[in-house]
Amino acid sequence: MTVPTVKLNSGYEIPQLGFGVFLVPPAEAEKAVSEALEVGYRHIDTAAIYKNEEGVGAAIAKSGIPREELFITTKLWNDRQSGEQPHDAIRESLDKLGLEYVDLYLTHWPTPQRDTYSNAWQKLIEIRDAGLSRSIGVSNHLPEHLDRIVKDTGVVPAVDQIELHPAYQQADVLAWGEANGMKIESWGPLGQGKYPLFENPAVAAAAEAHGKTPAQVVIRWHLQRGFIVFPKSVRTERMAENFDVFGFELTAAEMDAITALDPGDGSGRVASHPSEVN
Ligand code: NAD
Repeated sequence: MTVPTVKLNSGYEIPQLGFGVFLVPPAEAEKAVSEALEVGYRHIDTAAIYKNEEGVGAAIAKSGIPREELFITTKLWNDRQSGEQPHDAIRESLDKLGLEYVDLYLTHWPTPQRDTYSNAWQKLIEIRDAGLSRSIGVSNHLPEHLDRIVKDTGVVPAVDQIELHPAYQQADVLAWGEANGMKIESWGPLGQGKYPLFENPAVAAAAEAHGKTPAQVVIRWHLQRGFIVFPKSVRTERMAENFDVFGFELTAAEMDAITALDPGDGSGRVASHPSEVN
């Protein structure tokens, strides 16, 4: 199955559907990623703070899949944003992954209290220019943070990876991305299992109509909205289910009904707000 790609402002293409490994314990990461590669995923989303880059790297090495067929993302953790630390951090991540470059390197959180995210962005630009990451972007950045880093450097991130699911769509970040040519990656695309998305009548009705599962309907909604998405599961059957989303299309009415699930007041958020993470 060929996964569609999204063209980034760097000129590189990212597979629109990937596999995320947040909360996959280090010891299980190699097995989970090996299974995901077996299912057909070629885009893996990890982070230094997930402490499973070595397992991801081991699975990549064992797979024998040519490097250019893979798209690997990792992220700079918050306590390495200042001074020259991002340069050390990317080298450590590359060592653990067993790679010479990643496809995408992200500042994980803006941590505005530290006031180091603009320095981090400047260092990510240097890391890109040194060939250690093909594309660079950010995560959990709100429009005010995006405005600041672009004002300071003139460089627009390729992506902003944000909490995004039908109940929490962050319209202001989406509008910023649209206006500035930055793509959106949805983390927690299934609401991390914390939000009762699968029982929702709009999702359930679409699942029934297409003979698909509610999870497949929600992933399809992300894809049809143009978002880049990488749901997580350590269960092989769910990895396969989450990958099997290209043989059907939600109607405009189904899309609208699911899009309407965001109350618009931020109450659908299931995880931390950028102002709370330091
Ligand atoms: P998710 O929305 O993908 O939810 C994962 C949970 O959904 C699983 O643990 C499982 O319980 C359930 N699930 C998965 N497939 C299912 C299926 N087919 N049927 C029923 N239930 C299913 O949440 P996530 O893992 O937090 O987000 C995905 C990825 O996003 C992460 O693995 C990580 O790579 C990334 N992420 C990034 C940040 C960030 O700050 N940048 C934060 C969280 C996650």
